[in-house]
Amino acid sequence: MLSPVAAIRQIRHLALPGLSGRDARIAAMQHPRRNQTSMLRQRTLKSVIRATGVGLHSGVKVRIALRPAAPDTGIVFCRVDLDPPVELKANPFGVGDTRMASVLEQDGVRLGTVEHLMSALAGLGIDNLYVDVDAAELPIMDGSAAPFVYLLQSAGIEAQNAPKRFLRVKKPVEVNEGDKWARLDPYDGFKLDFSIAFNHPAVDQTGTRVAVDFADDSYTRDISRARTFGFTQDVEALRAQGLALGGSLDNAIVMDEYRVLNAEGLRLPDEFARHKVLDAIGDLYLAGHPLLAAFSANKSGHALNNQLLRVLLADASAWELVSFERDEAVPAGIAHLYPTLQLS
Ligand SMILES: [Zn+2]
Repeated sequence: MLSPVAAIRQIRHLALPGLSGRDARIAAMQHPRRNQTSMLRQRTLKSVIRATGVGLHSGVKVRIALRPAAPDTGIVFCRVDLDPPVELKANPFGVGDTRMASVLEQDGVRLGTVEHLMSALAGLGIDNLYVDVDAAELPIMDGSAAPFVYLLQSAGIEAQNAPKRFLRVKKPVEVNEGDKWARLDPYDGFKLDFSIAFNHPAVDQTGTRVAVDFADDSYTRDISRARTFGFTQDVEALRAQGLALGGSLDNAIVMDEYRVLNAEGLRLPDEFARHKVLDAIGDLYLAGHPLLAAFSANKSGHALNNQLLRVLLADASAWELVSFERDEAVPAGIAHLYPTLQLS
């Protein structure tokens, strides 16, 4: 079975596959008949795939197995180290602790750091999956979503015989806390605009604002490789709280007061802001369906992203579930977002 270290090594040296919206449009033009009787379908994996890694906060070894699931299952995590095993379905009202990660909680059972895998699942359009985990936290892998993307693509992605359902935002919704805010606006597609400010020289000299629109940008190429980051001056306080025990230069960008300490430097010139977009995509996918919306945020994090979803869902007139069962109904931005889903 694939070791995560091997997976990461390959990811570092290979350009990952995946069509951007532009490439997909060209492919669609070359094969016009393929789309005539198609609908946007739900997706799961073709086969089971396993991986091992370390928990960022616990520091313990964690094993995961990603298993195919039937249409309309959603993303269901299963704590298989408990007897009997406990299932935690991805849903915005199950998110408890958001200090350093998005933690699902149910009847006293916790599962932490779900956002990077959730982000990869959103990015690849996977609707239904069982995720077996033998610890209270998902493995951090290399601190990005790229190892999860690689695992999912290695298992193979299968279109299912059920229409993909989207959560369409119908009215603007905003939450704020001081100068931090997050907002959703109606949009026939999915785009994000994220600004950060850390008052730190190594962060502020990079691009601190990132805008992506998945009608034209590729999740795999433009977002999935961005790593999480932390500051050495925070590590002691975090460790006193039992957090970041597994954190290292192998799974995070680490900075002292002045500079990045990782010898290899940054993977992308604006890697910090891109990781915040990666996190937001994962946090928003806890809604249970992909969004049709424009997300924008300033200095937001897991807590505010989750609060935004709760405010949205609390207002029944602000959203609706939609599916596209005939081609002509599919908004252009969505057709480009999930090109390979359109199987006749
Ligand atoms: Zn993150």
